[in-house]
Amino acid sequence: MLIALKDLAVQPVVISEVLRAGAIDLRSPDFRQVGVLIVEAVASLVSDEIRVQGELQVRIEMECSRCLERMEVPVQKTFDLFYRPSRTLQPTSRGEEIELRRPELDVGFFVGDKLEFNDALRELILIEMPMKAMCRPDCLGLCLQCGTNLNTGTCACSGGATDPRWAQLKASSK
Ligand SMILES: [Zn+2]
Ligand SMILES: [Zn+2]
Repeated sequence: MLIALKDLAVQPVVISEVLRAGAIDLRSPDFRQVGVLIVEAVASLVSDEIRVQGELQVRIEMECSRCLERMEVPVQKTFDLFYRPSRTLQPTSRGEEIELRRPELDVGFFVGDKLEFNDALRELILIEMPMKAMCRPDCLGLCLQCGTNLNTGTCACSGGATDPRWAQLKASSK
C-alpha cells in the first residue's frame, strides 16, 4: 500500500483497507498475521511531512510462553504517525556515507515521493506484541522432566527421579 505525495498535495487520502491474512510479512519467526488486517486511516500533508492517523485491528499468532502451543492474540491500535522526507544517506566529515539513524519516537522517514504504508503497519504491530503471553491464565505448561503438555495430558513424572533418557538429552544439548 503506497501513499503518494502527489495525491496528498491535492487533498488528504482516506485509507480503508482489509488485508488478507499473511499480507503483512512481520519478518519475525515469532509472529504471524493470521487474521485479516483492518485499517482505517487518513493520510495528510503537514508542511513537508506525511501524517497518518487511524486505527488497525488484526490477529497475530505467537507461541504460549509456557506450553509453547501456537495461539492467537488480538491486536488493536490507534496511531498518529509522522513521516519526514529523508535523504537516507548523509555525507560524513570524512566524505563517507552512513545511514541516517532512525529516531525512537513516532517519526519515521519516507524516501522519494511515496510512503510504503505496509512497513508502517508492520512496525505498529510488532511494537504492540507482548514479549511473553500465555494461552490461558492457568496454562499448566510443560512437564520439566518429560516435556508433556500438562494442559492436554498427564505424565508419570512425580517430581522425583529424572528420566535418564531426558537427562542424557539435556546433557548432550549443552
Ligand atoms: Zn499455554
Ligand atoms: Zn513428565
